[in-house]
Amino acid sequence: MAEDVSDLLAQTSAYAAQYVADLSKRDMSITASVDELRDRLGGPLPVRGTAAVQVLRDLIAGAEGGISGTPSGRFFGFVIGGVLPASLAADWLTSTWDQNAGLYAAGPAASVVEEVAGAWLKELLGLPDSASYAFVTGCTMAHMTGLAAARLGVLDRAGWDLNARGLAGSPPIRVVVGAERHVTLDVALRYVGIGTDQLVVLPADAQGRMDVTDLPAVLASGDAPTIVCAQSGNVNSGAFDDLNAIADAAQAVGAWLHVDGAFGMWAAAAPSLRHLVAGVERCDSWATDGHKWLNVPYDSGFAFVAQPAPHRQAMSVQAPYLMQSGEGGPRDEMDWTPEFSRRARGFTAYAAIRALGRDGIAAMVEQSCAHARHFAELLDGHHGARVVNDVVLNQVLVTFGDDAHTDAVVKRVQESGVCWLGGSKWHGQSVMRISVSNWSTTTEDVERSADAILAAARS
Ligand SMILES: *Cc1c(COP(=O)(O)O)cnc(C)c1O
Repeated sequence: MAEDVSDLLAQTSAYAAQYVADLSKRDMSITASVDELRDRLGGPLPVRGTAAVQVLRDLIAGAEGGISGTPSGRFFGFVIGGVLPASLAADWLTSTWDQNAGLYAAGPAASVVEEVAGAWLKELLGLPDSASYAFVTGCTMAHMTGLAAARLGVLDRAGWDLNARGLAGSPPIRVVVGAERHVTLDVALRYVGIGTDQLVVLPADAQGRMDVTDLPAVLASGDAPTIVCAQSGNVNSGAFDDLNAIADAAQAVGAWLHVDGAFGMWAAAAPSLRHLVAGVERCDSWATDGHKWLNVPYDSGFAFVAQPAPHRQAMSVQAPYLMQSGEGGPRDEMDWTPEFSRRARGFTAYAAIRALGRDGIAAMVEQSCAHARHFAELLDGHHGARVVNDVVLNQVLVTFGDDAHTDAVVKRVQESGVCWLGGSKWHGQSVMRISVSNWSTTTEDVERSADAILAAARS
């Protein structure tokens, strides 16, 4: 048995090493259809088992043509990071160690690594070191964590004990959002019992930033417990809300300020971009991702809450009267995250931060933005391409004339296999969305990809 396991892991590791080595030259198109994938991977429930080595071989063969090139430096779709080598290896260790990181007792090192990486993340992102942290699956669950704390916190201030009395019958919560918020904010609000009718939607400006003109007046009207949701990094344009203006208005009325910084909050880690998140330290809760710009493998997100008490009260499995802060003692993650049993998610983020260091993370973020500006220069004004956003970060939006033509250019680029990017809608119009979020993207990748885009625009 022991021999079989080492052979299995050696073969898998050899395959993985080859896969990673090929990333820089691979064809980026998806060649397998859904029917082919179902045909190759499907079949009746296996009655008898198969040797593990064979299972892995069959899985690799079955997935052929259906694995998208997301970790490649020529993947510019959605907002998707790659995988830093140190994080990839740490991810293997995470499964090898198989810790249940919900409880300190079941994984002491996992808990301490999250404590260390949590502190590093706060420093990198310019957050108060007194804030609490939680390692979750992504920004959506980070929203849910922060908003659950927000809900409990604002109701507590209104004299309502949420944990005892529940949401039914509580004072209705009002949530102020921008028109160009990310869709996951709405879904996370629904998870915590806040529906779309409870939202006050402020208009957005041409770049997608919340227009804060009416915010003070909106907040001054009525006395409902209020949560304001700001955004650092619009998923299309990369634009940033003015956090200082929003924090001024929120603080004036004691509203809770939550921020969606899925990728944009990483501007804080780069000296030349830090001004974009000015005021970030004034929020009450923050949600961001590790699997986007930090280039940690899926799934990795981080939530932070300025006041640890409502965070813990919202997430803890313990009865409220048992909740002592446990000064200096170890932390059971199940008191801070939505999960009870959970993966030891801290190892991959820890490895990424150690591998790059503060300067390396700043360089990675700044390099992605430089590549985005390079894309914009290479494309804008050529063969009908027009960049329609201010390229302030890593996002570039391009039209090629009418919607049908823009959609066709996106499709042709996807089929070319040179790079992969997707379409989106911006001000009701089809756009090509280029997101540079991968540590391994080179200038040559950008130039080859821009050539392929222009070739697709010409034909
Ligand atoms: C990706 C993204 C999210 C959702 O993050 P997940 O990690 O996919 O859950 C939320 N907000 C913004 C701005 C995003 O770009």
